[in-house]
Amino acid sequence: CADVAMYQAKENGRNSYHFHTKELTRAAENRQALESRLHRAITAQEFVLHYQPQVDVASGRILGFEALVRWQPESGEPVSPGVFIPLLEETGLILALGDWVLHEACRQALRWHAAGLLDVPVSVNLSPHQFQHLDVVELVRRALAHSGLPGALLELEITEGALMAQDLTTQARLSELKALGVRLAVDDFGTGYSSLAYLSRFPLDKLKIDKSFIDGLGQDERADKIVATIIAMGQGLDLQVVAEGVENAEQLQLLRAQGCDAVQGYLCGRPLPAEQAAARLVQERQVLPA
Ligand code: C2E
Ligand code: MG
Ligand code: MG
Ligand code: MG
Repeated sequence: CADVAMYQAKENGRNSYHFHTKELTRAAENRQALESRLHRAITAQEFVLHYQPQVDVASGRILGFEALVRWQPESGEPVSPGVFIPLLEETGLILALGDWVLHEACRQALRWHAAGLLDVPVSVNLSPHQFQHLDVVELVRRALAHSGLPGALLELEITEGALMAQDLTTQARLSELKALGVRLAVDDFGTGYSSLAYLSRFPLDKLKIDKSFIDGLGQDERADKIVATIIAMGQGLDLQVVAEGVENAEQLQLLRAQGCDAVQGYLCGRPLPAEQAAARLVQERQVLPA
């Protein structure tokens, strides 16, 4: 009996080992396949930007849009940015896509601006790789110059991890970006290094509280307290505080009570193609006095 058990354990062990390597091989193959698809997708320009509104808690008005990239493959399965962005980041391809995103968002923002539709910034996510790139300031300057967009209408979202990587360079880089007139936001706040010293040292304008904290609002007393503390701290440092991933009225209620400046999330609007995002602005302007 003991022998049988021993034999089975060995077999199971071997099977799970086989299973494991097979899975790993498959994952590597999938990754490889996805990587080649992405290479082709960048050449074939299969990407579009969608725009998600950020809404002022006090007035309900749209304060700005976050540009979020979408891959619309000619063939094959659709893949979400949560999957392909990290892969592009690892392979360095993010520089090519990121530059396209920057130019496209600036072009779109200028179109809205020129049509009298947009006096609010469009936010662009800068990946860590992009932010740490030697020429990031030049890339942003060029996107502004090519589009003709005033710097004040562009906001750059940078994650805590990217900000913390090399302190001195970061400081200089942020100052140069600020000199272009752009706004700077910390994305996914609370999930990174959470070294708070940088908040007062770097020239930041906005802090976006990560969705994982917002998810717990009204469910978990500690989440309520953490969010309240982040809001108080951000406002104490003169940062605009935005809550990410607000999905229901209860979360909005709590955020309003805690004095949060703005919200972004499915409750106020999903990311939309440019024309639909613009339509929302037009509609809002008709309802509310200028
Ligand atoms: P992020 O910058 O934190 O963007 C917010 C993400 O949360 C977006 O996911 C958005 O669609 C999603 N979201 C917004 N409101 C809600 C909500 O109420 N509920 C839920 N469940 N989700 C909500 P998305 O578009 O899939 O993008 C995921 C991440 O991929 C982004 O996180 C950002 O880090 C990255 N990403 C997206 N577009 C770009 C880009 O153009 N460049 C770079 N570098 N990264 C990008
Ligand atoms: Mg973002
Ligand atoms: Mg975020
Ligand atoms: Mg995120």
